This record gives sequence, structure tokens and C-alpha cells, in this order.
Amino acid sequence: MTENLASVFEMEKEELIKAGIEKGLKPFQAKDCYVWLYNRRVNSPEEWSSLPKTFRKEIKHYFDFSFPQILKESVSKDGTTKLLLELYDKMKIEAVYIPQGKRTTLCISSQVGCPVGCSFCLTGKGGFIRNLTASEIFLQLVVLEKRFSLFGKHYNVVLMGMGEPLLNLDNFKKSLKIILDPEGLAISRRRITVSTVGIKGKLEEYLQDTGLPPIAISLHSAMEEKRRKLIPSRAVLSVKEIREILQKSSRREREKISIEYVLIRDFNDSKEDAYALKKFCKGLKVKVNLIPLNQNKLLDFNSPEKEEVIKFQDILSSGGISTTIRKSRGGDINAACGLLSTMEKIKAR
Ligand code: SF4
Repeated sequence: MTENLASVFEMEKEELIKAGIEKGLKPFQAKDCYVWLYNRRVNSPEEWSSLPKTFRKEIKHYFDFSFPQILKESVSKDGTTKLLLELYDKMKIEAVYIPQGKRTTLCISSQVGCPVGCSFCLTGKGGFIRNLTASEIFLQLVVLEKRFSLFGKHYNVVLMGMGEPLLNLDNFKKSLKIILDPEGLAISRRRITVSTVGIKGKLEEYLQDTGLPPIAISLHSAMEEKRRKLIPSRAVLSVKEIREILQKSSRREREKISIEYVLIRDFNDSKEDAYALKKFCKGLKVKVNLIPLNQNKLLDFNSPEKEEVIKFQDILSSGGISTTIRKSRGGDINAACGLLSTMEKIKAR
């Protein structure tokens, strides 16, 4: 980031247009700046060929146009690539590129660290530093797009990286204005999934707004005591409260809410656990994603046996619950669910 200059990306659309007009542009030209920046992803004003040359030269003295820096790349044998990004204050976050055949998924972060502290998650173990700003959220997509030549191609986005998005809801909503805007990044709402453990006061607020992207609830156990062992934070709703909120939810027709369930050997992978989850899902418009835990020496939990995963799935399917087993990706580079590490961030303190 250029010293002492405010990031151009922190301005909302109207603010950016207003700033352009103040610098002598006509309103349609000022809007063109926004289109160059976001719709065409061009962050060097010299290339904004539709705008006056003097403006293109001068504007760089007023705002900083730089993206977060890629400090390191870790490539998994399955092609998953984790980028370590440095923010303006030297804090580090991770963003992940996940190719799966013809599908591409980008996993981005919402906070530096995470205050929820889930016991199976390396990010949670590293503590919380700060919320990401709106631009730090959407620029992860732009950086990943550029690095992997994805501009103009379809991809899915998951907010499943570092942090709990509902604890940074205002900045996330602000970032969505740019992400969803047809003149902005123009990414479809339906291609985005926001993952949450279910934050008190926020889950209801989120579900009431049908303009927000589909949501995935990280449940991990339908038994309250077990779930508390995995997700001890007091800010998190109980299993009963989550079910009540989902029962009342008025999400769009045909848009099911995902229930994410990390399967941990001898902890939450028994028949009893599966029946509890089946009971939880009964009557709700949900689908279940089972995610066998990625074993890691820094965590006290183990991956489930394959047969147990299948048995678990069968019990849910027998109740008519749409259930998929999500293949772990990027486990060898700590890029899989729960393994985004905070090591680099801690070094920056
Ligand atoms: S699993 Fe998600 S909510 Fe829990 S500590 Fe990790 S990043 Fe935070």
C-alpha cells in the first residue's frame, strides 16, 4: 500500500463516483472509473483508456490502488492452492483456490484469526486479531482470479476460510454490494455460500434478508453437550435455538440451507449421533454435507473410518435427507476445512 494514501477500494460505489466528479470528471466518466476498477478488474488508472489522460495520471496521487500481496503459495497434490496474503498492516490471511474437474471454488476469509475458538480448528486455536474490512474481503476474490486466470469464468465462492462471517456482518454486507453489483464484480448470489456456526442475534437477521447468499450452518453435532465441546463460544446459538430459527426461516423457495457436519472418529460419528442429526433435520428444508475430519498433528481429533462415514450417510438418507460426503481437499497443505493456520499471522505480531 502506498504510504498515507487511502485505499480506493474502501469507497462505496456512490463515494467513488462522487470523488471522481470532485476531481473534475463528468458523472458518466466517474461511473466509468468504478466499471474499470471492478467490472474489468483494472487497478492501474493509466489503462483506463476512456478517461482523460491528465485524470489518469493524477488520480494515483490521491488514492492507493494496490491489492493485498501474495507472500506465499502452497500447492497440494490435488491442485488446491493456498495463498498467504499480506494486508496493509502486515497482518496475514489465507485464501484458497480449489479446482475440482470443471468446477472451481474459491474459499475466502472474513477475519484475521477467529474469536469462536472451535476445538477442531487451527484458526480458532490461534485466537482473534481483527475483522477484515469490506475491501479486504472482496479483494481476495480479485487476487485469486488474477492469479488463476479466472476472470470471465464461472466459479463458486465459499466464506469458509479464517473467521466467522456473521461476526463481521456489516463489512461482509458492504463487500457484497461490490461483489453482487452487475457493474461491480458481478458474481451471482447463488454461487456464494456463507458458512456460520450460528451466532446469537445474527443468524436470524441474516436469514430474514433474502438478498444475502445461501448459508451453511456448521452444526457438527446435534447433541448440545458434544457441540459445546467442539464450539465452546457463548456467542453461539444452541442446537435447539438453531432448529427453531431454521423452522421459522423464510428463505427462497427451493433454496435449501446446508448443514455442515465434520465427522470425527469416536466423537460424533456413531449411530446415535446420526439419529440425533436425522431428528434435527426432520421437517427442515436442509441438506447435509458430511466432512470427514482432516487429521493434523496439532489437533486432538482423528479422521473417521470410511465405513462409519457411509453408515452415517445411510442413516440420514433413510430419513429422506439429502446427504453428500465432501471430499477433503488440500489436507497436505493445511488448506482443508479447519486447517487454515494462523502461524504466519502470529509471526507478524
Ligand atoms: S471453525 Fe470457523 S468459526 Fe470455528 S474457530 Fe475455525 S474459523 Fe472460527
